[in-house]
Amino acid sequence: MQPRNPTRPIFVGDQRTGIVQIGGGIGPEHPLGHGLSAPTTAAPVSVQTMTAGYTHDIDKCVAEIHKLTAAGADVVRVAVPERKDTEALPEILAQTTVPIVADVHFHFKRALEAVEAGVHKIRLNPGNINDRAQVEAVIDACKDKQIPIRVGVNEGSIIERKDKQARAKELGAVFSDQKHGYLLSIMIAKLEEYLDIFYERDFYDIAISAKSMDATVVIDAYTEIAKRFAHPLHLGVTHAGPKETGCIRSVVALGSLMANGIGDTIRISYANDPIYEVEDGLELLYSLGLRERKGAELIACPTCGRIQVDLFSLVQDVNDKLSAEIEVPMKVAVMGCVVNGPGEAEGADVAVFAGDRKGIIYVQGEKVATVGEDEILDRLLDECKAFQERVRSGDAKLGEKKVDIVPPDPKGELGSGWEKMAAQRMGHTPLTVEGR
Ligand code: SF4
Repeated sequence: MQPRNPTRPIFVGDQRTGIVQIGGGIGPEHPLGHGLSAPTTAAPVSVQTMTAGYTHDIDKCVAEIHKLTAAGADVVRVAVPERKDTEALPEILAQTTVPIVADVHFHFKRALEAVEAGVHKIRLNPGNINDRAQVEAVIDACKDKQIPIRVGVNEGSIIERKDKQARAKELGAVFSDQKHGYLLSIMIAKLEEYLDIFYERDFYDIAISAKSMDATVVIDAYTEIAKRFAHPLHLGVTHAGPKETGCIRSVVALGSLMANGIGDTIRISYANDPIYEVEDGLELLYSLGLRERKGAELIACPTCGRIQVDLFSLVQDVNDKLSAEIEVPMKVAVMGCVVNGPGEAEGADVAVFAGDRKGIIYVQGEKVATVGEDEILDRLLDECKAFQERVRSGDAKLGEKKVDIVPPDPKGELGSGWEKMAAQRMGHTPLTVEGR
């Protein structure tokens, strides 16, 4: 993991919602350090998402924002395509507790209305709001209210001004060796052109995004932008598709960038309920060690020919229960057998190893119970809850292992799990786990 790329921080939110810092790391001496009184440090990478419903449908919009906030979204964006959407904002803001961003396209007046309504940040697209006077009006309104603006350059953004077309050509030569050279030159030229307007008006509270549906373009574009602009970067793969493929595209692009220190806030986008965007965004940050985990981390084996219980259902059930009932960041392992499971569950605070339609449950390496398959879920959850209480009271420490787990059947006498499961169905007496 590379250290975070230093940027000029922006601050989103107010006293009521709490303020989310995005980016950081530069000080007053930096060319973009205008108005900073002291060195800054990078804030944890934040997770954003966007509501899927109509903003003017106030009750549903508020309910969706509450749901996304509960799932862990740090910032929520809403679309404001029509006047009735910006008119709904004061009511929505009054009823919600997370910083709200207004997503503005085509109509700069929606941005002015949203600023007036009290939103915490504006997103502008240079591809469709590029009249200089209109952009200046939005900048001045945001400056007046001290709220930041995200400049979101989509791959389709167009260069308007002649001199910038020349600049794009110039940059084209710079990027000629790169697969996405032409696109990168357009994006950089557009950003330079747009940000010049902001700088001329002494406005620096800016975040940048440069999304594409192609993960490789996203990696190249943000890598180049990070070298040139010390503004916080909002990472995302746009139009990533359904959750199944969108997850891969997003994780490969965002994970690569963040491993290289690039990115200050992320939005994973799926053609699905945005709650998955929040959950998967958080999991990505946890996996990279960029955020402190909230709740349990579930480790589970992929299963193989040794499996002796219905592990896929068990894992899903355990995952659901842990999400609902465990807040302490304990590691929980669900393993299909006692042969290789202990090694694979190394470091788990609570673990279950299945064997012969049974589950052997361990807490920090100590065997605490052997229960039938039907009881595994409840007993495992009870142990997790008891362990959580002990951690909270200071009687136990996360990550401690009191003894090494020794597989009860190290010689492999358990044999093939599938064969035994079949034998059980045929009425044969199943083998038992040694010592039980
Ligand atoms: S824990 Fe056991 S069942 Fe699961 S993959 Fe490893 S060896 Fe196979």
